[in-house]
Amino acid sequence: MRQPIIAANWKMHKLTAEATAFAESFLPLVQDSNAAEIVLAPPFTALATLGAALKGSAVQLAGQNVYPEEKGAFTAEISPQMLADLGCRYTIVGHSERRTLFAEQDDFIARKALALLDAGIRPIVCVGEHLEEREAGRIEEVVGGQLRGSLASIPTGKASELVVAYEPVWAIGTGKTATPEMAQEVHGFIRKELSERFGASAEEIRIQYGGSVKPENIADLMEQPDIDGALVGGASLDPTSFARVARLQRS
Ligand code: PEP
Repeated sequence: MRQPIIAANWKMHKLTAEATAFAESFLPLVQDSNAAEIVLAPPFTALATLGAALKGSAVQLAGQNVYPEEKGAFTAEISPQMLADLGCRYTIVGHSERRTLFAEQDDFIARKALALLDAGIRPIVCVGEHLEEREAGRIEEVVGGQLRGSLASIPTGKASELVVAYEPVWAIGTGKTATPEMAQEVHGFIRKELSERFGASAEEIRIQYGGSVKPENIADLMEQPDIDGALVGGASLDPTSFARVARLQRS
C-alpha cells in the first residue's frame, strides 16, 4: 500500500516572513489529517526559517533543486549534504522549468537523483511531455526516455525511495489539467517502465501527478490506481487551498 504524497513547489515565491505566516495558518488545518504525507519545497532562502516553523509537525521539508557534488568550487550551488543539514527529506529534480529554462538534461538529473539518495534524501524526479509531443503521439517515447535517462544510475535497492512526478508541461501553471483518465494512462505506462527497470520494487514507488492540481480536482485524480499524490505549484501558495489538496478533499 503506497502512502499518498502531496508536495508543494513554491518555485520563486515567498520571503521568509511569508513562509512563516504560511506555516502558522497551514499547520492547524492539516494537523488532524493523515490522508497524505505532506511536503513543502520553498526557495532555498526560506528552508531554514520554514524548517524551524515546521518543527514538531509531520510536514516534511524539501529542496527544489540540488547540485550533485558534496562540496567544492561550484559557485552558487547547493549540495545534497547542505539540504540534509537543513532537514530536507525530499528534493525535486528535473522539473520542466529546469529542463526548459536551464537546459538540464537527463544525465545531469540522474547524477542529482543518485547524489540525493546517497545523502539520505528522496528525489522527486519530474517527467512530462510538451503539447506538440502529445499531439504527435510521442508521449511514451518522451516520458519513457526521460525516465530511463533520469533514473539510469539508481540501484534497485534504493528504488522504493524514489518519487516520480508526471507533469505534462502543457498543464503546468496553465489551468489545464489532464483528465484523471489521461493522467492514469501515462501513470500506468510509467509504472510498467519502472517495473521493467526495478522489478517488484516498482509497486512501492509513488507516482505523483502535477499540472494545475487544486481542491476541485484532487479527489478525482486520486481515485486512479496509479496516481499516488500530487506535485502542486499555484494552489500550494495559499494555505487554505493547499490544505484542502493535502487532505485530498473536494472543495
Ligand atoms: C509545478 O510547478 O510543478 C506545477 C504542477 O505547477 P501548477 O500546479 O501551478 O500547475
